[in-house]
Amino acid sequence: MSDRRVIVVDVETTGLDPAKHTVVELAAVDLGTGDHRVIVPALRREDLAAASPRAWTVNRYFERRVYEQAMGESALNDALCELFGWLDGATLAGASPAFDAAFLATLFEDRCDAGVPTWHHRLADLSALTAAALQKDPLKLPGLDVCCAWWGVENEAPHTALGDAQATAECLRRLRAHCDDRGSVRPDYEGHQPASERYSASAAAEARL
Ligand SMILES: [Mg+2]
Repeated sequence: MSDRRVIVVDVETTGLDPAKHTVVELAAVDLGTGDHRVIVPALRREDLAAASPRAWTVNRYFERRVYEQAMGESALNDALCELFGWLDGATLAGASPAFDAAFLATLFEDRCDAGVPTWHHRLADLSALTAAALQKDPLKLPGLDVCCAWWGVENEAPHTALGDAQATAECLRRLRAHCDDRGSVRPDYEGHQPASERYSASAAAEARL
């Protein structure tokens, strides 16, 4: 396996639909170095018009005066171009990384001259990894607040991009330490030999009939 850079991302948004809503605040943490960036895009008239009122309640955009840090087009482009360098070829990690990835792709597409970075096609999902590592029901996926409780991490600023990204990063560090302590092997997938007995989904389905 390669030692790809792992970048933890969290976005706060104007709603849940990446086709309709947009990023109001983005934080990225380099899991290896702990270095972080916060990016606050200036919202356009159409972003405000399409926003879900519920989203403002969750992310407290106005209460926290996030808009005071809003970046104009040029500063936003520069910040996204820098983040492009972090994410291109990296593993994207998050508490709910598919959600973050969808919003990031649209943000880069719309507002970054460099276009959309190519992060690795497998996302590091704290929720799924935590359920598996702690031997919980793997299909009852815990939210970030539950992951933090299970890993003993305090989220100092929940529902802010940086608070959530840093809490996620700390959970991932503890998860990795937990796996190291357990002495779990680090398999070399390139040299992986298939098991002698192969699992057949169709045979298993037939057996259940
Ligand atoms: Mg968040």
